[in-house]
Amino acid sequence: MKYLSTRGLPQKRSFCDILLEGLAPDGGLYLPEHYPQIDAKELKKLELIFFQEGYASLAFSLLSLFIDDIPSADLKGLCDKTYTKAVFGSEKIAPVRALTDGLFIQALSNGPTLAFKDMAMQLLGNLFEYELNRKNQELNILGATSGDTGSAAEYAMRGKKGIRVFMTSPKGRMSPFQQAQMFSLLDDNIFNIAVEGVFDDCQDIVKAVSNDLPLKKQLKIGTVNSINWARLLAQVVYYFAGYFQAKAMSAKTHISFAVPSGNFGNVCAAHVARMMGLPIHQLIVATNENNVLDEFFKTGIYRVRSSADTHETSSPSMDISKASNFERFIFDLLEKDGALTSKLFSKDIHAQGFFDLSADPRFKAIFSKFGFTSGSSTHQNRLQTIKDVYTKYHEIIDPHTADGLKVAQARLVEDEVIVVLETALPIKFASTIIEALGIEPPRPEAFEGIESLPKRVAVMPADVQKIKDFMLENVS
Ligand SMILES: *Cc1c(COP(=O)(O)O)cnc(C)c1O
Repeated sequence: MKYLSTRGLPQKRSFCDILLEGLAPDGGLYLPEHYPQIDAKELKKLELIFFQEGYASLAFSLLSLFIDDIPSADLKGLCDKTYTKAVFGSEKIAPVRALTDGLFIQALSNGPTLAFKDMAMQLLGNLFEYELNRKNQELNILGATSGDTGSAAEYAMRGKKGIRVFMTSPKGRMSPFQQAQMFSLLDDNIFNIAVEGVFDDCQDIVKAVSNDLPLKKQLKIGTVNSINWARLLAQVVYYFAGYFQAKAMSAKTHISFAVPSGNFGNVCAAHVARMMGLPIHQLIVATNENNVLDEFFKTGIYRVRSSADTHETSSPSMDISKASNFERFIFDLLEKDGALTSKLFSKDIHAQGFFDLSADPRFKAIFSKFGFTSGSSTHQNRLQTIKDVYTKYHEIIDPHTADGLKVAQARLVEDEVIVVLETALPIKFASTIIEALGIEPPRPEAFEGIESLPKRVAVMPADVQKIKDFMLENVS
């Protein structure tokens, strides 16, 4: 299996070539040159593997279709080591439960940091360690986080050989729980940097440091952002696992997924699963007030927002101004036309702030060919959804999951089950739960008292040189 850039670069790469890379050299994102096809017989086989051997074996079967430069036994070992009950809290790893006979929830948030990013990041940590060891290399990951990504990366990379993590976050802006999660990590290879500024300052610093090419080379600086193909690939697995469970729990004809979306990584993995032949009926993209994606699926116009136009909401992990993985879907929509994809993302967006596919006949096929629909929610919608679920089903869901559920309810059709992805646990966003219900969300035992643990964090001004110096000091 070889990988291509969405912007038409002629070179094809293999999986391990792109594993440690971010964007392709032409600024595009990597995609496999074709999607492996799974027919009904093969699907049945995967279903049996999931129910009889478990999630790790399913992951190995699916990953093997995309990775041909890691020996099978090693890849199996990495999957087995990653997807364990000890790490993800249940035998099924991503268990599905029913709220009603048409609305199910798939739990993706029982990993070490209580958000779905663990599902992919835990595998990435093991893949990175394996590949760096094979190449006898080191990697210094530099990132910016407003919450979930940074902690998922740190918990995945802590203690890993050959890897250090430098994670910037805006000082005092994360929830107290998120700060405690990150800053209480005392591992030698984890460096928390609280920047006196906002999230955009952190992102600008990461960009500026990464653009210092000599330093980037000297320090072997890399990233773990959501455009990494391996992360996306790891997420494909839980759509198969969710589909198999939903099918076993319901006799309904259609099975769909509703995905609380920001950077389009999660739902892009669903798209890949569907392209492989997983018979997903609707792929429902749920956004919050930052509705760049909902707007596109409704109008064909993709209009990125400025930072000033990006709302701070009560589902903060979906507060995006542009969806960094979206280019992958557009490339597929445009039948792999790299030149056109490149024009839209590198020319049109820069020149005019948007691109418009409303007149392209292929846009009309977003539902019939690709199954995509969308919707959005407001703060009031989320509070109401959290209240309804608590009153009717005695469950507490987090505000991101509430986005998904709210949009799913509006989209549910006859003879259909919609699986809503639970992308975080409510304890991570306690203040919104208290606002909705007047009570504290439950806290998993392992997280009792984390706010009072010793913390390690360097506080710094939003100054690129200071961050560079800090990295140089700590990379020996
Ligand atoms: C990251 C995140 C999302 C958005 O996922 P994308 O892959 O960026 O679309 C949604 N909910 C939570 C809780 C997240 O952490």
